[in-house]
Amino acid sequence: MRRFFVAGNWKMNKTIAEAKALIGALSPELATIDNVDHAVAPSYLALPAVAGLCKGTGIKVGAQNLHWETAGAYTGEVAPPMVAELCDFVIVGHSERRKFFGETDESVNQRLKAALAVGLDVIVCIGETLEENEAGQTEAVVTRQLEVGLAEISETQAAAITIAYEPVWAIGTGRAATPEDANNVHKNVIRPFLREQFGEARAELMRIQYGGSVTPDNAAELFAMSDIDGGLIGGASLKPESFIAIVKAASMVAIVQQESQS
Ligand code: PEP
Repeated sequence: MRRFFVAGNWKMNKTIAEAKALIGALSPELATIDNVDHAVAPSYLALPAVAGLCKGTGIKVGAQNLHWETAGAYTGEVAPPMVAELCDFVIVGHSERRKFFGETDESVNQRLKAALAVGLDVIVCIGETLEENEAGQTEAVVTRQLEVGLAEISETQAAAITIAYEPVWAIGTGRAATPEDANNVHKNVIRPFLREQFGEARAELMRIQYGGSVTPDNAAELFAMSDIDGGLIGGASLKPESFIAIVKAASMVAIVQQESQS
């Protein structure tokens, strides 16, 4: 059985002081949940403080992006060894990076390889836009993003990768995909691709998060689906009570699934 992985993407929110306060509110509650992996991805500036506060709490810490070069003349960028000093994982290919900062499937692949080379776990984000969805292109788009984004990655390296399926039209809109529609993409497009690329055994172990307007109200229904292995949470990760409720929903679903299997 795959362990749920629920990660909060704080995006460009929270000053250092606000980030510390949020971790202060999250950690006592999250410390009581040991059957779900949970994580936060603050801004670069808040990372040192957050990483320090999360040490020993079980909360994993990630960055929201990284450059692929090890060092050099890339003003404003952050290199993989710098991220690896503080973080357990990094997010690459978020649709906001693709939309506002011109990131491509090719540069996602470069970032992924560079992150794996320094020992980071990686969340690779994929997902179709509204126009692509309405044109019936979801499968083609997601498959292309996976083909190029995961190019030249070995089965062993894949152990460090989580896929986040985030339909762009669902991010920050309050309009989540239905559990059935999301699971259809996870189960019938992404998992088969992972099987083909990395083999049956690895594909069964890899986690596929859903992201896009996950809230305490819809989390349990989403997580109860066969191939939704957690969530990448934006807006609802900024408030302690809603992020805690979403992690608790994953924990409850995990208990029910465990019981039904034994
Ligand atoms: C995200 O930023 O990855 C995201 C899914 O945002 P939200 O939960 O706010 O839709």
